[in-house]
Amino acid sequence: MLKRTLVLGAVCCMMLFGETADAGKIKSKLKGRHRTGLPGQGYEDTLNVPGQPWGVHDKDRPEPWVITPPTASTQAKAGSAPSDATVLFNGTDLSQWQSGNGKDAQWTVKDGYMEVNGTGSIKTRESFGSCQLHVEFASPMEIQGDSQKRGNSGVMIMGLYEIQVLDSYENRSYSDGQAAAIYGQYPPLVNASRAPGQWQVYDIVFEAPSFDEDGVVAKPAHITVFHNGVVVHNRAVSLGQVAHKDPPQWKVHAEKLPLTLQDHGNPVRFRNVWIRPLTGYDSDQ
Ligand code: MG
Repeated sequence: MLKRTLVLGAVCCMMLFGETADAGKIKSKLKGRHRTGLPGQGYEDTLNVPGQPWGVHDKDRPEPWVITPPTASTQAKAGSAPSDATVLFNGTDLSQWQSGNGKDAQWTVKDGYMEVNGTGSIKTRESFGSCQLHVEFASPMEIQGDSQKRGNSGVMIMGLYEIQVLDSYENRSYSDGQAAAIYGQYPPLVNASRAPGQWQVYDIVFEAPSFDEDGVVAKPAHITVFHNGVVVHNRAVSLGQVAHKDPPQWKVHAEKLPLTLQDHGNPVRFRNVWIRPLTGYDSDQ
């Protein structure tokens, strides 16, 4: 108790002399994260949390990184990314993207969005594994075609695991291929689609698969998806790489691979695309 009183006293002194928490900020080696630098509060005499090296309410347990959270988008304006995210598209340029052949991406960039234009799928220059991914898309305002021919694109995580992009607003297709489906494997729990031309959001948590030494899947990918704020997959267990008219299969691949956005011949738009790795929180790395 005495110790805690002293700590509180020190904080009060800092406030009295006009020092802010900023003065002692500890920066991460990664951008957009810091620790307050304020002393930990808690206990030294409690039993451990089961299975963990830390006591219950342990005052020495490392402080979570502080980030600036994202701002929400509106139909008129894209929001901002969290401070520690890798921004893949902020509405102005395709510098983070390349074509399938390794040349610069050629999609149309206009008025804060990028649009599929028949020049082929694009993939990120950087590779990613387990991640949180935020993607906003809009189906073409002008309705053309039906089923899989209307507003088709795709968010291909690691280039291999597709969350379908489709105009599924009053447009029926096969259920495991409609908007927000894990293509060819799981329909979304509900159809939360907005009308053509409206901005829609996928928030995805992707846990990458791992393989044993023989190339057999040891842990399948797990995929959680929110479509326009509604959960449509809750840690769905992937059955393997995306396939069309064939059952999915596992094939061994690297721990990290580029993210792909699909050109399926329809002028689908994207904006406000950002990604955060799911690892690296316990260290400075
Ligand atoms: Mg597709």
